[in-house]
Amino acid sequence: MFKAPPPPAEVLLGFLSKLQRLLNEADFTATYKLALIISLSDLAVELGSDDGSELILTTRQIGERFVDLYWKQALPYGAGRLGTAPGILTQNNGAQAAVVSAIANFRSTVGAVSIHQARAHPAYNAMLSQVCQTVSAQPLKYLQNFGGSTDPFLYERLGGGRVRLLPGVAYCFRRFHPFVQQLSRARWVEHIKSNRRNTSILGEAGDLEEFLFSTSRQSLALVGEGLKKLDGNSCFYCGQALATFDVDHFIPFVLYPRDLAQNFVLAHPGCNRSKSDMLAGRFHLERWLERLLKRDDALQDIGERAGVVADAHTSHRIAEWGYKSAEASGGIA
Ligand SMILES: [Zn+2]
Repeated sequence: MFKAPPPPAEVLLGFLSKLQRLLNEADFTATYKLALIISLSDLAVELGSDDGSELILTTRQIGERFVDLYWKQALPYGAGRLGTAPGILTQNNGAQAAVVSAIANFRSTVGAVSIHQARAHPAYNAMLSQVCQTVSAQPLKYLQNFGGSTDPFLYERLGGGRVRLLPGVAYCFRRFHPFVQQLSRARWVEHIKSNRRNTSILGEAGDLEEFLFSTSRQSLALVGEGLKKLDGNSCFYCGQALATFDVDHFIPFVLYPRDLAQNFVLAHPGCNRSKSDMLAGRFHLERWLERLLKRDDALQDIGERAGVVADAHTSHRIAEWGYKSAEASGGIA
């Protein structure tokens, strides 16, 4: 395949300053545009390459990301908390965002199912089509309108439900992924908090960001149980027996905040802290990759039981990207 050279520094700077303007000046009546930026930057890491080439995505791929992102957010927030009135957070300044309603309706029709079971459900495709239609008619159409004009600096839309990330864009998303994610998530939290219809639902609770974007504690506990059976009762890093343990993100959450079952390992709280937000050394990477390949069925099973998406190929791609970026910027423990 033809490899385009990486874009020059001016392109990187142009990307950052335009994205900054977009985040400051765009009209965020709903959280969709933020979900779209998050989805595009994730897909650039998972499907793109480290050269300046374009990347063709489909509306369906983007729609699937929307379902993943809003899946947990379509459940009531605040259940069982003092001083709150549990309810589904409103993600739009007018009526509830159509994507949230479609997922919430689907969830209430099919009952308590994990995202895995949901994907296999006969009604899933109809819900996904609805989400894709909204993504196509709203954020994909309007994202690049800001500051009073249109500036198609990220993508152009092709026929047949395809979206072409312009040359250099996937490269920039890969290069600045943690930064893009942090900005978009912070805006998302702000948007939810500033909507008055969410005030009574939010109450005094301070874990909104965790609710919106992290795997729930119940799911993590199930992952922990599964990993104990798979890896034995020992710390992934030092190999010593575990009395108490943390379910650690092998690729740190701050570096890549999308939870896949393959990314979790058990570690002593101390070993987890000393690794902190750095990547583990190469020796551990080799062991982690070996587990990824050899224990794929068991890891799929853990993901299914815990309701966490499991995807070995994508996990591998994310690790490759993470270690390569860390080598460029220095971030390996
Ligand atoms: Zn340890």
